[in-house]
Amino acid sequence: MTNLPPSAAPKQLNALLRLYDKPAYRDWAVWITVAMLVITPFALGTGQRASGDTSPRWVDVVFGTPVMTVIFGVLPAYVRLRVRRAARTGVTDQASIDDRDALDQRSQAAIAPTIVQPAPAGKPLAPATVRAQVAAPGLSGVDLASSKNLAFARKSLPYPIARAARTIQIATDRKEQYEALLAAGEAIGICVGLVVAAGFRSLSATSISFQNLQEAFVGRGVTTGHWIALVEAAPSLMKDVPEPIDGLFDGVRPRKGPSLVKDLRSVVEERNLWAHNAGPQSAAEVASRIANLAPIVDDAFGHVQFLANAPWVQIKSCAYRKASADFAVTAFDAMSEHPDFERRDLISTLPMANDTFYMLAKDGPVDLTPFVVIHDCPVCHQSEMCFADRLDPKHGVALKSFGRGHPMFEEQLRADVEHLFGV
Ligand SMILES: [Zn+2]
Repeated sequence: MTNLPPSAAPKQLNALLRLYDKPAYRDWAVWITVAMLVITPFALGTGQRASGDTSPRWVDVVFGTPVMTVIFGVLPAYVRLRVRRAARTGVTDQASIDDRDALDQRSQAAIAPTIVQPAPAGKPLAPATVRAQVAAPGLSGVDLASSKNLAFARKSLPYPIARAARTIQIATDRKEQYEALLAAGEAIGICVGLVVAAGFRSLSATSISFQNLQEAFVGRGVTTGHWIALVEAAPSLMKDVPEPIDGLFDGVRPRKGPSLVKDLRSVVEERNLWAHNAGPQSAAEVASRIANLAPIVDDAFGHVQFLANAPWVQIKSCAYRKASADFAVTAFDAMSEHPDFERRDLISTLPMANDTFYMLAKDGPVDLTPFVVIHDCPVCHQSEMCFADRLDPKHGVALKSFGRGHPMFEEQLRADVEHLFGV
């Protein structure tokens, strides 16, 4: 993580030096630290002393209190921080992966019947047989024009990723294609990151990955790096909660060879070079950077094919049906490169909100608010699919449109973001 902004004001986050959790009254480390600060001076000032102890009591109190507080209050909190960080980055441990596989098999056996089914007249849901591809041991040259991964993405993946694949393939010159590859890496990182955030939002209060995301939301904004960090943390999150989408674990898991997280990090590195005027200078350099980048981005497209198993839909209307005690939902399908979303009819046992994006996950619809929303863009005067970027103190939630990155604001989303993170 090279592009984490510095922490925002600790008081606002209630996470001083990142050592203590919020809310503070639920954190044992806070209690111990406060207790040491309060009890130590009292104990040192009034307790019985050994006969050989000649130092004045005030010396004991003044110097003893901070020492005891650090040893018994701050140090345990620091050790905890290290343990949590190790848990976050140490997901390559094969044993933990095997644990999770076993857990997943158990949970699959116990899964409740599917909640969302296609209505008889509606389009069928995406085929459940789509799986993330197994990565090749090494990456070699890729013909972007005939890439199967790009073709699949354009047809079957969420709109921002499908669109990014399209932009790569229709680029008219090499420089345009180079920039399209960078944008695609970003789109994939953001989309998978927000899918993880929405799918595991029940862990938002306890997971350190969510805390980093929260700091970014409240501070300078969420970078692609934050989303990728959440993707990297996903396998460890799945130790506690079964995967919400078939193939998610396999798509994001660490691998010896190329993996999604490694691919995305490489693209971000290249993108940062490009953004700081260290992009390719000559036609030959553009060609060589594309040759380097193309297999990496293509591999990333391959790893995220599991997204087809949880289609994104934008809800148009949702009506309760008394006879069957369920909801007839009319939605637009946001799962291909076409900007005019196809209509899709669904039957849901849960109510769904109009003008809201959901992903149809294994156990039912998952609300993608506040991560993905539709908003009228003040720049291009169209309704654009946006992702939440940061909390703005004056204007609510700052949004960015996928692809073009147009900025806009939505006051009504503030409550969603604050609720999510318990701000
Ligand atoms: Zn726009």
